[in-house]
Amino acid sequence: MFKPLRGRTVVVTGASRGIGRSIALRFAAAGCNVVAVARGAPAAQAVAAEITATGGSAHAFAADISLTADAQAMAAFALDRFGAIDMLCANAGIFPAARLDQMTAEDFDQVMAVNLRGTFLAVSACLPAMKARGAGRIVLTSSITGPITGYPGWSHYGASKAGQLGFMRTAAIELAPFNITINAVMPGNIATEGLASLGPDYAAKMAASIPAGRLGSGDDIANAALFFCSDEAGYITGQTLTVDGGQVLPESMMALEEMRGG
Ligand code: NAP
Repeated sequence: MFKPLRGRTVVVTGASRGIGRSIALRFAAAGCNVVAVARGAPAAQAVAAEITATGGSAHAFAADISLTADAQAMAAFALDRFGAIDMLCANAGIFPAARLDQMTAEDFDQVMAVNLRGTFLAVSACLPAMKARGAGRIVLTSSITGPITGYPGWSHYGASKAGQLGFMRTAAIELAPFNITINAVMPGNIATEGLASLGPDYAAKMAASIPAGRLGSGDDIANAALFFCSDEAGYITGQTLTVDGGQVLPESMMALEEMRGG
């Protein structure tokens, strides 16, 4: 049904683990050239090696996406290795918790720098290559937290994830004449290394509050990103896709209890 993306080049930020790794592997399985980006070079290289070991095409690049020079170097590297940037999955993000009475300005700035400024820097670095090619697909990894829900400790994180959507909507208008789309996936709770760092209790309790009865997988998010990058999604821009197993739907704990038979 969908035209193959074989031979196209995707830059994936935050690709060394978690959701980004799943996106990198999924696009590689679809025949794309992958540039796997993270600050930690060994882990990013391990993902690239995993792809090439199975006959895929990938390179790793070490970059801190909150830094302009690193973002520019990332795009230059992708162009040098593969000659094009067709798709960008701006996925790198951090979610350290701090309640408001503990949160410092530095905590706030750090989350904004990676999650929001990093989104802007990744997009603007990849845009010239997309414009030169006359087409492009950008997918942001936002979150349900911020755009739809809240969670104690994550006011800065929620602001950054809602901010990505504000950024996206104006970018979508500016980029439409260039045949470049920009959309966002909004994951619920996804089983990743980052989420595991919040502790086993958190994961178990969250799974119990999701109608689907399980945390999401990286593949659940990667499939949505792949859809946004398809030719068939070319008329969709500035939109969000919530991928959360129904997590945002129950209006109260009672709704979940009713679902389980009271
Ligand atoms: P994760 O397991 O902690 O992985 C984060 C990735 O981002 C790693 O590859 C990390 O590598 C990279 N990264 C962090 N800071 C970076 C920086 N400054 N520059 C470049 N790369 C950086 O996180 P995840 O759970 O997969 O989350 C990925 C994205 O999904 C984030 O944007 C997050 O907000 C979003 N999300 C996650 C969930 C969830 O439940 N897991 C839910 C909603 C949204 P290095 O540390 O080596 O740089």
